[in-house]
Amino acid sequence: MAQPVLQLQKLLDEKKIASRIKEMAQEITKQLGGEELIAVCVLKGSFVFYSDLIRCIDADIRTDFIGTSSYGNATKSSGEVKLTLDLTHAIQGKNVLLVEDIVDTGLTMEFLHKTLQARSPKRIYSAACLFKPEALKTKYKPDYIGFEVGNEFVVGYGLDYQGYFRNLPYIAQVTSLN
Ligand code: 5GP
Repeated sequence: MAQPVLQLQKLLDEKKIASRIKEMAQEITKQLGGEELIAVCVLKGSFVFYSDLIRCIDADIRTDFIGTSSYGNATKSSGEVKLTLDLTHAIQGKNVLLVEDIVDTGLTMEFLHKTLQARSPKRIYSAACLFKPEALKTKYKPDYIGFEVGNEFVVGYGLDYQGYFRNLPYIAQVTSLN
């Protein structure tokens, strides 16, 4: 399968993303007050944001990865979230930071929060690069938000369409799907 032809409109460039990430990381560093953190990358979409964010947080960090799926190849959530990969670290009594690319309906983060809360961490924080308030179907709001966006499908900076476009260094809105 070749990369689909999409019409893209740039929403957030590299500079804007980098400077917002620095601000978020400073807030997270301050909140931690010198305590250790397990930073959890929610695969796959957050791997780019995650790697930039954790390198700006000034704390002792252990990295871990968790996988969920709800979209398949579609642009709308199926509404059913499944765990496709679990953590390797025990999180009991630990500070956990869930790092997500985008919160859309909020179902993924609600599911992950519940799943990890059952393992008795000290505290779960959450950071999302993007937040779509108009699409929210739950009461979930991340503690740290990079940018709010409208109810549009976006790609780039880790976010894909059919597996492509994750390597775009900026975030773009898809204006038409061919
Ligand atoms: P939620 O469970 O909040 O509805 O959706 C979370 C997941 O859906 C995100 O982690 C992301 O993988 C995917 N998603 C939601 N909105 C978008 C979007 O606009 N673009 C892309 N590429 N993925 C999205």
